[in-house]
Amino acid sequence: MKTKFNGQKTKFNGQNSESDVTIIEVGPRDGLQNLPIFVETDKKTLLIQHLAAAGIGEIQAGAFVSPQSIPQFRDMRELAAAITPLPGVAFSALVPNLRGAREAVASGIFKLIYFYSLSETHNLNNVRQSREASRRGLKAIREMTIADPDVELSVALATAFGCPFEGFPSREQVLSEVEQVAALEIREITLCDTVGFGNPRLVEDILSACRENFPEIVFAVHFHNTRGLGLANALRAYDLGVRRFDAALGGLGGCPFAPGASGNIATEDLSFMFAGMGIATGIDMDALLAATRLLDRILPGVSLSSAVYQAGLPKTIPPGEGTACRPPEHKDSLPPHQDW
Ligand code: ZN
Repeated sequence: MKTKFNGQKTKFNGQNSESDVTIIEVGPRDGLQNLPIFVETDKKTLLIQHLAAAGIGEIQAGAFVSPQSIPQFRDMRELAAAITPLPGVAFSALVPNLRGAREAVASGIFKLIYFYSLSETHNLNNVRQSREASRRGLKAIREMTIADPDVELSVALATAFGCPFEGFPSREQVLSEVEQVAALEIREITLCDTVGFGNPRLVEDILSACRENFPEIVFAVHFHNTRGLGLANALRAYDLGVRRFDAALGGLGGCPFAPGASGNIATEDLSFMFAGMGIATGIDMDALLAATRLLDRILPGVSLSSAVYQAGLPKTIPPGEGTACRPPEHKDSLPPHQDW
């Protein structure tokens, strides 16, 4: 089925019945977590409402961490209370430990994402504990979720495609970690290119080995566009059979180890690529760009790296059938484009 940019959305339980791929919006978590300013709860709520209205079926709302470690998430309970009644959206949150997991569930968020790194040094820097301690933490949360079948647990493995301290993990290292997670009967693992070291060949090497050895696991991917290869990596992952992709509105989500670099792959750019290829995402591009304009107003002074947001959408659907461009609505000061 061909997707129009303004395609109708159909959502239920976080899954889009007509989607070929699921784009998981991680902007409210990965995008906001490193910002020096606190974004008020009502603004976060409005942003999430816009994302839902654009057809995003899964949203990572934030992280249940201590307010001292990440002040941005000090309002997680109020935020969860405001957003969880939204119909048709599945919300998830990052949880660093059992306490965070319990708080998430008590707040009405039933999909938990536990994260740790393939790299010992990155794990020590990022979550301040050894990988062995992280694995013990995972087991404790898994026991909790076994006792409560309404709660879903997924694992995000950071630095799966490279680490600023330790370089590239070997394929065997990744497989061994996946094996340990799979042994806990966890059925979804997100492989993260946390610092944008990956390239399509590396993605192929790691992902094809993972999918071949663990056919029972649903692999999702989380690519940062730090060095411009995010979409190339996402496309390679799609070609290898991956159907779940993290992305952040506006391309937010810079890495503290690469100051100034662009962040996650932008939701707008990834959706635009899939839509242009006839791959259904369930996302309405115009409504998505309305969410980006809102984000731009919420974060004055923060530059949004989404190429589609910068350039605007082509008038013609699908791309390639015409040359006319629609002027970017958010750049009122620019003269309208001429049709050449
Ligand atoms: Zn990330």
